[in-house]
Order: sequence, then C-alpha cells, then structure tokens
Amino acid sequence: MPVYADVILPLAIQDTYTYSVPDGMAVEAGSRVLVPLGRKEVVGIVCRKTTDLPEGIDKSKIRPLTSVLDAQLVVTEEQLRLWQWMSGYYLCPIGDVLAAALPKKVLDRQYSFEHSVRRTSRLSRPPINLHPPFPLTPQQDRAASEIRQAWQDKRVVLLHGVTSSGKTEVYIHLIEEQLQQGRQVLYLVPEIALTTQLTDRLERVFGERLLVYHSRVSDGKRAEAYRQVLNHSAGQVVVGARSAVFLPFRNLGLVIVDEEHELSYKQQDPAPRYHARSVAVMLASQMNAHVLLGTATPAIETQRNAETGKYGISRMTERFAGLQMPRITLIDLNRQYHRKEMYGHLSDPLVDRIREELGKGKQVILFQNRRGYAPYMQCTQCGSVPKCPDCDVALTVHRNLRGSYMQCHYCGYESALLSACPECGGEMRVHGLGTERLEDEVEKLFPEARVARMDLDSTRKKDAYQEIIRSFSQHEVDILIGTQMVTKGLHFDDVSLVAVLQADSLFNQPSFCSYERAFQMLEQVAGRAGRKGQQGEVIIQTFDTGHPVLEYLCRHDTDGFYHWQIQEREQFHFPPFVHLITLTLKHRDEQRVADAAKSLRQRLTAAFGNRCSAVMQPSVTRIQNLHIRQIQLRIERTAPVSKGKQMIRQILQEVSMTLPCKGVTVQPDIDPL
Ligand code: ADP
Ligand code: ZN
Repeated sequence: MPVYADVILPLAIQDTYTYSVPDGMAVEAGSRVLVPLGRKEVVGIVCRKTTDLPEGIDKSKIRPLTSVLDAQLVVTEEQLRLWQWMSGYYLCPIGDVLAAALPKKVLDRQYSFEHSVRRTSRLSRPPINLHPPFPLTPQQDRAASEIRQAWQDKRVVLLHGVTSSGKTEVYIHLIEEQLQQGRQVLYLVPEIALTTQLTDRLERVFGERLLVYHSRVSDGKRAEAYRQVLNHSAGQVVVGARSAVFLPFRNLGLVIVDEEHELSYKQQDPAPRYHARSVAVMLASQMNAHVLLGTATPAIETQRNAETGKYGISRMTERFAGLQMPRITLIDLNRQYHRKEMYGHLSDPLVDRIREELGKGKQVILFQNRRGYAPYMQCTQCGSVPKCPDCDVALTVHRNLRGSYMQCHYCGYESALLSACPECGGEMRVHGLGTERLEDEVEKLFPEARVARMDLDSTRKKDAYQEIIRSFSQHEVDILIGTQMVTKGLHFDDVSLVAVLQADSLFNQPSFCSYERAFQMLEQVAGRAGRKGQQGEVIIQTFDTGHPVLEYLCRHDTDGFYHWQIQEREQFHFPPFVHLITLTLKHRDEQRVADAAKSLRQRLTAAFGNRCSAVMQPSVTRIQNLHIRQIQLRIERTAPVSKGKQMIRQILQEVSMTLPCKGVTVQPDIDPL
C-alpha cells in the first residue's frame, strides 16, 4: 500500500502539500523533510502520514519526498496541534505559522540537529555566582499562596501588583517550585525588557538552567536553543519574547506572561497576527500547565476574565520596602501658553521642579511618545505639508547626530530638509514635539546637566539600549528623555521626578482601546518615579486637565478606570463583549481596492448581516504605494465564532479567484488592537 505524507511548507499559499513516501524511508508526523516543489527543493515538516489520498487528487502528479533530514523528530505533536489551532483561530495558512515558529536555520537543509554545536557559548561564559532567591515579604508570600490556591481550580491567574511591588520575586519562587518538580517554565516578557535588568536578575538565581530566546539573539543561537529545549538538555526556564511560545516544550509546568497588558505581545506583521498571551493560554491548556499573568495595569480583557471568575486573581497593593505611590500633578497647558509661561515645550513649573531635583543630585525622566525632531513641517504661506511620495503621511523632521533630514515613519523614505516651500517658495516651519527637539530644548535650558535620549533612533546600534540603561542607572546621566521605551519595567534608584510632556496625544488614537493604552502607559511611566526612601513625583502637562483618564490616574485608581471602561465597551459593543475581526485590503490601484472592498463587503453582509461594518478608510490610507481599505466584523460572544471564521475563510477563498478581488491582498486580523 502506498504511503503519503502531508507536509507543511513555509509558504502562505495552501495549507499542506502531499507527497508519497518512498519505501523504507522513516517519516513520521514531526519529521523534517526535503521535498521537491516546482524545480526547487524546500524544507518542510510532516504533519500527517496517511494511506488514503483526499478526493480529487491525481495520484500520478504526486511526487516522492526527497529525503528525511534528521534521525529524530524535530517538531512535537503538541506543536503541530498548536500550529493547527493558530491557523484556524487567526485565519492564516499553517505555512505562515511554521515560518514564525521555527528559527530560520532549522528551515535550511544544511542545518543538522545531530551535528550542531554541542559546546555552546556556555563554556566560554564566565561562571555565574548564584544567589538564592530573596526571601519573600509577607505580602509577596501571601500572593504566592493565593496563586497556588487559585491554580487548583483555575488554569489562569492574574497577579495584579502595583509597580515595584516585587512581582519578579513572586515569579522566581513559583518558578523554583516547578523546577523542583522537574517541569519546564516559560517566562514571557515584552521584547524590549529582555536586554536589561531582568535577565541579569534571573541568571543570578537560575544560572545555567536559564535560556534566553528572542529576535535579537542570532539565528544560530536560536536554532541551538530550539534544539536544547527539544532534547531537554538545557533551558528548563526559558525567558523569551512572544516567539518563545513556539519552542518544543515537552514538560511545561508554568507559563508566566509578565507585563501581560503590553501591546508588543501582539504580532502585527507578517501573519500570523497572533497575541502571545492568547497562544500562551492555549499552549498551557494543551500541556496542562499553569498560567500566571502579571502586571500593574491589567488589560481590560484580562481584568474582565478575573471579575467573571474565569481567571483567578491575587493583588499586591503595597510597593516593596514601604515605598509610596508617586504623587501626580497636572499642569494646564492652555493656561501656561496663555500666560506665556513656557520655555519651548516645558512649562515654567516643570522647569523649576527639574532644576530643584537636579540641584538635589536626583535624576529626571521626560516622556514624549514621539520620536524625531518634529512630526511635520508646514509652509507658513500656503500651508502645504511635505508628505511621503509612497505613503499618505507627513514626513517627520529629524535633527540628530546624522544631520537634518525628513523621514517617513511608515516606509523609511528619506529626503533633505526643505528650506523653502516647493509649491510657493514660502518659509517652512517645523510643528510639534518629538524627542530630538525635546533634547535640544532641555540641553539649552540645563546646559550643565548630562542628557540622554532613548528612542528607536538612538538604540538602533547593537547594545546601544543597554548602554543608555547602564549609564543612567549608574547616574552618569541626569535627564533621560524617551518614548514609551522608558516605561518598560526599568528600575532606577535616583529618579525622583518623571514628567509627561504632552499627555493629550495619547488620548486621540483611533482605536477602541486608546484610553486603555494611555492609562497603562502613563501609570507605567509614573511607576519609574521614586524608588528609594522617598515619594516620587510625576508631572503631567496636558490641554485637558479634566480628562477622565487623568482623573483615575491621579488616584492610581486602576479599578475605577476598569469599571468606567468596561461599561463603555459594553454599551458600544466593543471587546471583550464582542469578537472583533478586521479584514485589511491592499492594492496599488485605488479603484481596484475600493471595488474589491465593496464586493467583499456585499458577500460578508449576506452572511453576517449587520455584524459587518461599512467599508472603512484607515487613518493612513496608503502605505508603500498600496491603497488600503478595511472591513470589520463584530461577532457577539454568544455566537459560535469558529463557525464564523470558517465562513470568512470560505468567502475569502471564493472571492480571491474572481474580479474585482483577484490580485487584491486581504489580511485578516483577529482580535485587533
Ligand atoms: P515589579 O512589581 O514592578 O515588577 P520588581 O519585582 O522589579 O517590581 O521589584 C522592585 C524592586 O524591589 C527590585 O529592585 C527588587 O529587587 C526589590 N525587591 C522586591 N521584592 C524583594 C524581596 N522580597 N527582597 C529583596 N528585594 C526585593
Ligand atoms: Zn512612506
């Protein structure tokens, strides 16, 4: 009887490809194989072995597998199940999941699981002086017992602990317990947190049992980490960014999702557009492992799950060592500008406070969530704004060590700074505030202070991020200016003042969760203030001192904020009360994409009725010369959403074959943020 193998290839075209298995070739689900594809040969993973062919497949067209690449299986059954689930849940070909799941090296036919470097860097690493974990404080100890208790009848538990309550120490104790039982632990953190204080702390406790896995680790090292987890030869504690959910765990006891509210857990591009928190919960339930979600500012969705009893919850309301929550003061920018009590973008009271703190030998963090010098420039005569030729956005002005230039923040296009308007010859003026401009102003105001800037541009070089953190924590820098990068779980002992230059920009984002994000970001950045001994201070400049987000923030009232938001979400039918699915259509030709969207919407409306939105234009309607339209589906919680997704999949398949949708890219985004 002929035997066939369904193989997953790292291609987004169809789900699996069928090949025949030559006599005597040992393949199983999970084997890494070389297969012919057209005139090429590619590496894939066998997901199923079968003796019967699906109907409608022409036997004579089936080609044999070329070879099996390893003596062992390199993908586990559990991984294959997880990939399948992801492909169904996120409406993407399983090949996309495969491409995200395996280190690139593993998809190279030259790579060998047998001959890979067994003597890894750990030999050359200096020996680590291990430290036993700190003893827990009474509050931490209580939280740990509550979490253990809750795990007895809930898979997922939320640890809602204020900034600096010492959540990491609680994690460490719970991890240690899992290791004692011989189980593996996955510790997920937002990408950026990985290069810092956290890995050092974990390494001191867990030493060689710790494995670090994220996108900045070289691909060779990623492949080696994959192999070590597969063979269980190391890495009982894996600390990693979102892609670590794809590692071949066999004996997982616990998944920790630290800063679970973080947006960076959601992959935007390319597909699969997955949320690592959701995948982590799925992974844990497949492996019968516990999940711990930790944060000071829970996602609304998570808090809802805790409120309804789906998740367990434990709280820590006190900061470590009796530290007080920072005091928050609002400064009314309307009034400041009106009275002309401003130095550039810093109000007089803020300038005074910075001066005082510097005088006391303290450090200051200034937060402005906009990189570059200024968001746009405009002609003073005719009002025209220089835009990217390929995207429908204004060019951001940059003035830094590289010089002065304009850059598109969507595609990277650059051009020289304009001195005169190309339309009318009028004078050009920069508008708005970015971190580079803030740095300029601060350096002029405080010439004696040492200033550093932390944003995407200043941290592009390898290790630059770490160097900024190091110099700031060793107080070689007095004022740190930064984008949201400075909000991420860092601890500095001498920071007594944190200021937010323009809070309003955070509120005006076009998303149902913009208030949620604003609150989280502000509460997190506030949490950087006041570490040792005294109460920290946070100054927020805003044009809208009465904004409800700021009112809740000033009281550090996370629960009040949650109740307000959850009510709004329910009233206006937003998640977590509905499932949201966005379909994004893209094409070079605007008419084509508009026609395609119209036609797709007709099909969807026929199937989904008023659950389907009108065709929408996103705030940026063209990126890299592709015109964009969107359609959104809202499916009530009580409806069988997986059936809905099957219907969408079918509709997309049908329309993709015919005009006007033929050739138009359609990208589904499930649970968009
Ligand atoms: P967060 O809750 O913000 O994640 P961390 O876990 O980073 O807080 O802890 C904040 C600070 O308090 C860290 O510097 C940490 O070393 C210290 N800390 C917390 N718990 C303890 C403990 N039980 N013993 C000693 N130091 C602790
Ligand atoms: Zn562009």
